[in-house]
Amino acid sequence: MKKQLTIALVAHDKRKVDMVEWSIHNAALLSKHHLVCTGTTGSLIRKAFEEKGIEAEITCMHSGPMGGDAEIAAMVVRKEIDLAIFLIDDLNPQPHEADIQMLLRQCRVHNIPIACNRYSADLMITSTLWDSDDYVPTDPKYVAFNRDEFIKEAE
Ligand code: PGA
Repeated sequence: MKKQLTIALVAHDKRKVDMVEWSIHNAALLSKHHLVCTGTTGSLIRKAFEEKGIEAEITCMHSGPMGGDAEIAAMVVRKEIDLAIFLIDDLNPQPHEADIQMLLRQCRVHNIPIACNRYSADLMITSTLWDSDDYVPTDPKYVAFNRDEFIKEAE
């Protein structure tokens, strides 16, 4: 990939092993980009990279429960994030559920690609569309839909 991206990396505690493994696996690619992480996720990736002698630009925000997701959501709103990898613990409740939903929602509203599992993350970081001069992402449409009329016409 030629273009330099700003990639957000966030992993809940029980998904951190997955995130570190994924980051190491993709270190050659990730080290060419700017990584913006929630506090603990970023510290773990930084430590893992250092141990392997991998240099990367990693910015750590606050820890997730202390506002890190909210800070990254604000960056999404300002179009400062190109791609988000967000490994959510779907099996346990989180104290900062509201912030998690905010980050997900702002990515959808602002049309920022967001991967919530490793498979999606792999597909997104290997996409050739990043370097395409022709591809223009289509913004989400919010168009009124008359459900009653649709059902009436179908009858
Ligand atoms: P953390 O935050 O990387 O600081 O643990 C992640 C989160 O829980 O959103």
